[in-house]
Amino acid sequence: MIAERIQVIEQKIKGRARLIAVTKTKPVAMLQEAYEAGARLFGENKVQEMAEKQPQLPGDIDWHLIGHLQSNKVKYIAPFVSLIHSIDSLKLLQEVNKQALKNGRVIDCLLQIHVADEETKFGMLAEEAEALLRSETLNDLQNVRIVGLMGLATNTDDEEQIRREFRGLKQLFDKLATIQTAQVQFSELSMGMSGDYEIAVEEGSTLVRVGSAIFGAR
Ligand SMILES: *Cc1c(COP(=O)(O)O)cnc(C)c1O
Repeated sequence: MIAERIQVIEQKIKGRARLIAVTKTKPVAMLQEAYEAGARLFGENKVQEMAEKQPQLPGDIDWHLIGHLQSNKVKYIAPFVSLIHSIDSLKLLQEVNKQALKNGRVIDCLLQIHVADEETKFGMLAEEAEALLRSETLNDLQNVRIVGLMGLATNTDDEEQIRREFRGLKQLFDKLATIQTAQVQFSELSMGMSGDYEIAVEEGSTLVRVGSAIFGAR
């Protein structure tokens, strides 16, 4: 069942983006099943849940933190996380840098951009993201690398609105990708979930985050 669902999604993506299996709230047995079906990128939205599951699963999994991250929790995932999708402030990035340094690592991060037409979704404005990428302070953070952007479209049935939001995020990505420093090297655009990943891939996503379409409703 999980294997078939992954296969269907991979066929629709056709190698244009990589699939992150979003495993939040799901038991380790289901993650193991996805692993056996070939999944190697796993996404969790809570630090504690990810830190509990990680040691119970094979070591060649890439763990993606996709949910809101509080500075005081970075230390629990810094030893192993492969990409943090939800950086929304310089302060948070400074803490990730500090914990990455402690672990002798460089941690890849995405800036989360607010694109949805909803107050509740986290993320930075385009101008804030650009200011962060151009800030002098970033040069001191040698244990982080900003490799792109993440965004969540509005939760709506209006496909044209979703497409417009993804297209806007891709345009911002292309603009900010011209900034290239030791700490800024854009290659990933994380957009698309179960309901909208096909639109996201058409609009240039490189990482889709799919949960319920693989594992069923939460
Ligand atoms: C839960 C979650 C997803 C996956 O959502 P589905 O609709 O189940 O595919 C993707 N991105 C983020 C940030 C999430 O929290």
